[in-house]
Amino acid sequence: MFQKIHLYLTALCAGITAAIMIVMSLLYLYLSEKSLYENQYRSFQNDISTIATNLEQQTVLSMEWLSKMEARGGYTFFVMDNEVPLLYNKLADSSDAARTRGLIDLCLQTYKNQFEYTYIEEELSNGGRYNTCFHAEFPFNPGGGRHEFYAGVIELSQENASLQMVVLSPLSFLHGQIITQRIHFLLIDGAALLILTLFSFFFTGRLLRPIIENRQKQNAFVAAASHELRTPLSVILSAAECCRDAEEDRRNRFLDTIRQEGEILTSLVNNMLSLSASDSKGLSFSPAPTELDTLLMNAYEAFEPLAAEKGLTLKVFLPENPLPPCKADQERIFQLLSILLHNAISYTPKGGSIELSLRCQKKRFYISASDTGIGIPPEDRQKIFDRFYRAEKSRSLKGHFGLGLSIASEIVKLHHGTITVSERPGGGSIFTVMLPG
Ligand code: ADP
Repeated sequence: MFQKIHLYLTALCAGITAAIMIVMSLLYLYLSEKSLYENQYRSFQNDISTIATNLEQQTVLSMEWLSKMEARGGYTFFVMDNEVPLLYNKLADSSDAARTRGLIDLCLQTYKNQFEYTYIEEELSNGGRYNTCFHAEFPFNPGGGRHEFYAGVIELSQENASLQMVVLSPLSFLHGQIITQRIHFLLIDGAALLILTLFSFFFTGRLLRPIIENRQKQNAFVAAASHELRTPLSVILSAAECCRDAEEDRRNRFLDTIRQEGEILTSLVNNMLSLSASDSKGLSFSPAPTELDTLLMNAYEAFEPLAAEKGLTLKVFLPENPLPPCKADQERIFQLLSILLHNAISYTPKGGSIELSLRCQKKRFYISASDTGIGIPPEDRQKIFDRFYRAEKSRSLKGHFGLGLSIASEIVKLHHGTITVSERPGGGSIFTVMLPG
């Protein structure tokens, strides 16, 4: 399922960024091409103006000058001297002369359609005299598709002489440039798309990793919880079954078993609810200035009878001088102390001793619970804070499901503190909780 989500997210992420990238590229291409056409047209217009000015100043039209001008701008000139074509250049004497003439005629026709009226207007404004020089530029498109030429027509008129010049600037070079630019963009966009897809794949993979881990933990939690619930439930069911035909005193024993297993189930369910609450919205937490020494004394008083019943000595060591209050949740810290003491009592054989102590150092409070019990092997010391984890030696103990220290660790996290476990010299374990002041 996660693989499908991963691929879907990759496609979504890459798709959206690629769409934005393509739209931006197309916009950039459009603007760039537009500006290329405009620059070329402006430069063509300037050239035509220069040619017109030069023509005006010359008395004799030199072939050499015409050829030079042609070569400079990559233009093709066609000159009509007193309406007689001046056949001097490659355009005029090419083998394709008929096509060329047709092209020039079409160009002149377009010019007439677009500019003759303007030309006559100027002529009239000159008092009926011929205008000495008039020139016009326009995109010329003989094929009917996109523009193939920029065309310029210059009209020079004097008393009884006229000269008409057609200048064609082919746009094939510009079109080639634009096609190269488009191919470059296509290649760049393709490469970017590939990189984006790879990046999205890794990025979404990283994004999903904590969700996958969480899901795996949840599955493990549900599996372990079901496993733990099964034993007391089957004991309850079989005890209930036996109750039916049992005599009075045996029935009472079965009822006691049912009650005990019910209590175990209640504590298991309560622990599971605490952990589930801490996962979803966090454990309830109301920190307030708390006197930790008083709390330790309360815990001692609550657990001393239980320890004594098991033949254990429980001692508490508090600093002689009064300590400053610690910002903590009283109820949660008492729950933490209960977990540590309950474990110490459970895992310490008869005759052993348990010590609870408190000290304050550099505005930090250290609570430690040490016992002379079975101890925890080094390889288990990190794992015992995981949910449902129990060390090998303690697996058979009834009513212990490996949830206490997970809850203790959540409580410590709420207080921004730490909890560690180490080996007690001479055997047993020491749990140390650090709480910031
Ligand atoms: P449990 O309810 O099983 O005690 P915890 O989460 O409190 O669950 O503890 C996890 C495991 O850590 C225990 O099963 C036990 O193996 C080990 N453990 C915890 N406290 C002690 C201790 N004081 N001495 C020895 N082992 C301990």
